[in-house]
Amino acid sequence: MTRNAIKAAKKAAGDLISKTSRKAYTFTDVHEIARRLNIEILEGEFRDNFGRNISGLMKVSGKNGKPIIAVKSSDSEERKRFTIAHEIGHFVLHGNELSHVDSDLEAVIYRDKSSAMATNTKEIQANQFAAELLMPTDEIKTLMLKKQKSGEDITKTITEISENYKVSSLAATIKVTSLLNTWYS
Ligand SMILES: [Zn+2]
Repeated sequence: MTRNAIKAAKKAAGDLISKTSRKAYTFTDVHEIARRLNIEILEGEFRDNFGRNISGLMKVSGKNGKPIIAVKSSDSEERKRFTIAHEIGHFVLHGNELSHVDSDLEAVIYRDKSSAMATNTKEIQANQFAAELLMPTDEIKTLMLKKQKSGEDITKTITEISENYKVSSLAATIKVTSLLNTWYS
């Protein structure tokens, strides 16, 4: 179930970026994608965190019935981009639900497989969607092979991905590591 759910999430992200003006080997404009989906993006600080570190939320029907994604303004640009991509994932994949509130998104990726599966397939899907939207697998694979052939150090490749795709080095590391795992397993 989870395997197919992840596949579906990645495919949805691929389908979505193929409809935009995104150029290969560069960053994805998450704001452009939100505009196309008629989603409004708001930035601010979350007043009541209920003891959680909230980084973003998605409300399907906000003011004027327009969907809203809210992100924490004090987060880094990279983190905000990941949060927006993650919330777009909820909208595209689970949009029939009223709202999602997310805390510590990247931490979700870190959970081990079994607990993550038990915890929340939707969160895994939203993270996989976000990763694919920001770092399309085919591009990253091609890039990694090219860099590997030229003898470039993997940490340098990760830094380049992080800079060119405007993602955190953590997100780039997770992407590269997961690709390496599929190659060597
Ligand atoms: Zn989420």
